[in-house]
Amino acid sequence: MEKTLSIIKPDGVSRKIIGEVIKRLEENSINIIAMKMIHMTKFQAEGFYAVHRERPFFDSLISFMISGPVLVMVLEGEDVIGRYRKLMGATDYKNADEGTIRKDFATDIEKNVVHGSDSGESANFEIGHFFSALEIVA
Ligand code: ATP
Ligand code: MG
Repeated sequence: MEKTLSIIKPDGVSRKIIGEVIKRLEENSINIIAMKMIHMTKFQAEGFYAVHRERPFFDSLISFMISGPVLVMVLEGEDVIGRYRKLMGATDYKNADEGTIRKDFATDIEKNVVHGSDSGESANFEIGHFFSALEIVA
């Protein structure tokens, strides 16, 4: 069983797409083993996206991620990192496959509704960034 970190980004929360995303997780037998609403500080967001520090879109991405509350979740399932990334679709919704979350709901390459860890190593880092062991259902 693998774990991954999911975030419903500020655009997804404000546009009331939380239910749609969770429905797709449940339909795909992905288990939610932790979840909470948080409004990230700049410090938390910069730490989370530290790998993108040098990218031209970094400042804009941080402003977006702290613009409102987000729903952070730990997901568990077989091959869940890859399977959830598939459900999300490509970063740029214009290139995303039909039926993916980003294809159906994203409005912009930045405002793309959801985040998902891209490897086991990033999943471990990202889960630890937001959750203590006590908050995760065993
Ligand atoms: P995420 O890490 O959020 O799951 P991702 O792995 O598909 O998305 P990354 O390359 O890690 O994509 O980029 C992180 C986030 O930065 C993207 O989801 C998007 O919100 C934003 N982003 C990525 N590329 C661009 C870009 N060219 N212009 C503006 N924003 C971008
Ligand atoms: Mg990424």
